[in-house]
Amino acid sequence: MNMLESAQEMIRKSSTLLGWSDEKRDAFLKPKHSHSFTITVDDDEMEGFRVQHNDNLGPFKGGIRFHPNVDKDEVTALATLMTIKGAAVDIPMGGGKGGVVFNPRDKDEAYLEEVSRQFVRNLKDDIGPDIDVPAPDMNTNGQIMDWMVDEYEKLTGDTSKASFTGKSLRNGGSEGRNQATGRGGMIALREYFNARGIDPTTQAIAVQGIGNVGFYFAQLAQQELGVKIIAISNSKKTKYNPDGLDFSDKTFSKEVIDELDGDELSSDELLSIDCSVLVLAAMEDVVTADNQAEVQTLYVLELANGPVTFDAHKALVERGIPVIPDVVANAGGVIVSYLEWKQNKAGEHWEEARVNEKLDEILSKAMKETADRAQQDDISLKTAAFLIALERIDAKHDR
Ligand code: NAD
Repeated sequence: MNMLESAQEMIRKSSTLLGWSDEKRDAFLKPKHSHSFTITVDDDEMEGFRVQHNDNLGPFKGGIRFHPNVDKDEVTALATLMTIKGAAVDIPMGGGKGGVVFNPRDKDEAYLEEVSRQFVRNLKDDIGPDIDVPAPDMNTNGQIMDWMVDEYEKLTGDTSKASFTGKSLRNGGSEGRNQATGRGGMIALREYFNARGIDPTTQAIAVQGIGNVGFYFAQLAQQELGVKIIAISNSKKTKYNPDGLDFSDKTFSKEVIDELDGDELSSDELLSIDCSVLVLAAMEDVVTADNQAEVQTLYVLELANGPVTFDAHKALVERGIPVIPDVVANAGGVIVSYLEWKQNKAGEHWEEARVNEKLDEILSKAMKETADRAQQDDISLKTAAFLIALERIDAKHDR
């Protein structure tokens, strides 16, 4: 079962627990709008789409990916997950996702700009600060959001810049966005430890993935929680030091793993390292029913989207290993996107400390609610997060 099937299965399971009929569940799974169009640059024609899943809680929100293999089923499932994520952390945002089917890697800047501007021209009446607020995703970034917001401004006269998030700082972007997902992961872990009375300073942590999410998680968890990061990996190698790797004076780069002082293991050895928390911050579907028995940890923290499959999750929970779920643990990025939108709508630019404080407030509350619900109902943290999300969405029908 892959990431998207696992998410759908979680929705099925949770909606059944809530007593939803099959009709009600199927109606929820069906996106409210699904837009398709063709983008033409030079002689190339490519398919673009935007799926708007659910806006009961607020404007649709979710990334746009540029990728040769992106398809509508994938985008629909990801839009559904965005609905769950926003609701699980209680921000007034719904779920959406978009894509353009092409490989951006061999394209020049003018080509990318034209794709970005045409994307907006095709959707100008269906997006906007109070309708749908897209953001970056795979292979899209602040520059692409800057072109998109500029095109939206030209077409509609809206100068708020609140129609897209993830923009560059000089163009209405938010402070703190780069570290937001890693910081959110640190906050989720801190609050889980708080809820269960666990002392973080005695915890040895292994992190799969030293990208944007994994690096900032590791650095902030070491600095702010006093945990020991004993291992971290990328797709080629693992750095391991049972006394703790030191992130204190490091800055993020693709090569930063080589600056850490420790033994070098192969990349796939990370999953079986004996640790207290295994943090999955690389990619989806890495812990499966086939390899979950190798995992030697007390807790799992999901920072990538769907790194533990549905079947593996069931097996880990049966082994007594709680999984702190992605829909809460990696929501730091979407929370700071929401804060960017809020700043733009108010015509404000907040200092980083204020953004971080607000992120902390929202994510701490969500993690505490999830941990409490899991304990009260004797269910997994993931089921608790999905139940909380579905109840919130169901309680608000039309905006
Ligand atoms: P990234 O590309 O910056 O980093 C990914 C890291 O994982 C890299 O270090 C890469 O070498 C490593 N990696 C890839 N395959 C690996 C493997 N098999 N074993 C070990 N390491 C491996 O990406 P990111 O922005 O850090 O995102 C990581 C994950 O988190 C993705 O699944 C992404 O969808 C998800 N996510 C990211 C954000 C965000 O704000 N960046 C928000 C929510 C979820």
